[in-house]
Amino acid sequence: MTEPTKRVLLAAPRGYCAGVDRAVVTVERALELYGPPVYVRKQIVHNKHVVATLEQRGAIFVDETDEVPEGATVIFSAHGVAPVVHEEARALSLKTIDATCPLVTKVHREAVRFASADYDILLIGHEGHEEVVGTSGEAPQHIVLVDGPDDVDTIEVRDPDKVVWLSQTTLSVDETMETVRRLRERFPRLQDPPSDDICYATQNRQLAVKEMAPQCDLMIVVGSRNSSNSVRLVEVALEHGARDGHLVDYAEEIDDAWLRDVTTVGVTSGASVPEILVRSVLDHLADRGFGAVETVVAAEESLMFALPNELRRDLKAAGMSDKMRHDAAFAEAGSLH
Ligand code: SF4
Repeated sequence: MTEPTKRVLLAAPRGYCAGVDRAVVTVERALELYGPPVYVRKQIVHNKHVVATLEQRGAIFVDETDEVPEGATVIFSAHGVAPVVHEEARALSLKTIDATCPLVTKVHREAVRFASADYDILLIGHEGHEEVVGTSGEAPQHIVLVDGPDDVDTIEVRDPDKVVWLSQTTLSVDETMETVRRLRERFPRLQDPPSDDICYATQNRQLAVKEMAPQCDLMIVVGSRNSSNSVRLVEVALEHGARDGHLVDYAEEIDDAWLRDVTTVGVTSGASVPEILVRSVLDHLADRGFGAVETVVAAEESLMFALPNELRRDLKAAGMSDKMRHDAAFAEAGSLH
């Protein structure tokens, strides 16, 4: 009997979203313009490789603003910060560059708007995630965290007729809809957000995985454990028919035992993952007989954000291009692309 052909289904889109690309380029360009060190509050994006590479170039990652020396430059990560963090930075006379993804900023604005109209805001998200901490900080008196469908029965609001739901940008679309369904059972007058809070990149990466999963014996998601959207991709794959699924930072983490009796491997990557890591996973699989790669295209993406205004202004003043582009040395070293 002939053996079935081993193959890889490669998700498209995968990897970098517009917000991550902008945040990473912000750190690269800030290093180029101001010279190292440049401080970054929290991981600029949730990816081990990206953080390690930027550290080698002179970025210093800190947990809190008060770890940054007075007067230094600090970049806020793509996940966003609460207003109190801006105040702390002002008090320390720090020069700040805000690399918060514009799609996270949109959710912050919604929170401010509904809070000023005196709504209770049911924020669907993961407790302790930086994005949730940042959004909650916009209106702490008005925000009630709903960490998944099981939280719905226990939350309390002031007025059940004046509630709206918002969400973290990187959640599972299906689980969020289930949470909303249960919230609406409890609060029939629950208002929807003005537009989707789960961002286009999260939705598209999940869509591609849903399409591939029923054909996959194994789904490999490249991404870090603290990356919410990457972790969700493994869950979505398993929920939609993949027999097995794993999250790996690097190709070397793939256990040969996972490949036993496997014909089709799905490969994708979270929104904070540089393509070079996916390429090394494909090489690793090809060495093990999975050389045939078919791309499964679920959506086309072309969104790009401009660099933060404060950085663009300084780049222009220094006679440098203020356009989004990766540092040439990075590109040559193949570190990120
Ligand atoms: S995952 Fe979505 S919200 Fe997060 S940085 Fe990317 S585009 Fe922005």
